[in-house]
Amino acid sequence: MPIILDGKSFAKETEALIAERVERFKTVTGRVPRLATILVGDDPSSATYVKMKGNACARVGMLSLKVEMGRDTATEELLGRIKELNDDPLTDGILLQHPVPKQIDERAAFEAISIDKDVDGVTCLGFGLMSMGCAAYGSATPAGIMRLLDRYEIPIEGRHAVVVGRSPILGKPMAMMLLNRNATVTVCHSKTADLPKIIKQADIVVGAVGKPEFIQAEWIKEGAVAVDAGYHVGGVGDIDLKNAAQKTSAYTPVPGGVGPMTISTLILQTMRAAEKTAGIADKQ
Ligand code: NAP
Repeated sequence: MPIILDGKSFAKETEALIAERVERFKTVTGRVPRLATILVGDDPSSATYVKMKGNACARVGMLSLKVEMGRDTATEELLGRIKELNDDPLTDGILLQHPVPKQIDERAAFEAISIDKDVDGVTCLGFGLMSMGCAAYGSATPAGIMRLLDRYEIPIEGRHAVVVGRSPILGKPMAMMLLNRNATVTVCHSKTADLPKIIKQADIVVGAVGKPEFIQAEWIKEGAVAVDAGYHVGGVGDIDLKNAAQKTSAYTPVPGGVGPMTISTLILQTMRAAEKTAGIADKQ
């Protein structure tokens, strides 16, 4: 029987520990840690994701500052708002919800976030530091996946990990995190030739494609670990888990796998950022 990598339960445990750290932080500093979430435009999925992050803050006793900007917002306006949040001593972490409307230079907006408050690991500096194995907050989804793999003591060193997808927030940082843990990593993308053949070699396969049930069960090796970052209408991910799960040695369910790990990791990294600013020892 495959092991179910239960992100939902682990996220709940993580939140309980964060709640204790929030209380300690309040006692030491007299204030409450705060995550600023910036939503630009009116994309309903983005609004839902931001709401879920705000709810998670509330569950652990943290504050969330919801910054909502219109769909016609100009890049300069957004950069100005981010600068204010960088300078605001009551804000510990900044999350800019991706994607932003087309007229905005998203990279410039991400880069405007100060490294100390980049709790979602979106800046080039944060990515570079993480890639070099230096202290930085990793992109929340891949960092959450690593925490989940570790929680279930899934061996990584020496394994062949195949990451399908190379986006800046998911595929690329995922590949670097696995590489830093001594996996042999192959990164696949839309121009990859013979994807099934490559996936067939994977001891660990990460689905980060953004297409429902795109990765077929027959592409997955018997006994591989399947990590599915996707979430689509109908409650399916990027891997055809319905048919693939039973041939894996472990898999992340959809829903209840990677999704809750992303949110709890974001909140955890906000907690760490707050503690760092206040000079409280980092418990990781
Ligand atoms: P994205 O920016 O759209 O990137 C998709 C990646 O998949 C790209 O690198 C693309 O290649 C690659 N791809 C597309 N078609 C392919 C094909 N036919 N064969 C191989 N690779 C292909 O998506 P993302 O933001 O990384 O998200 C990926 C998935 O993760 C989505 O399902 C998303 O909903 C999910 N997600 C979940 C969470 C969470 O919290 N659970 C967070 C973030 C994302 P190119 O680079 O060549 O275009």
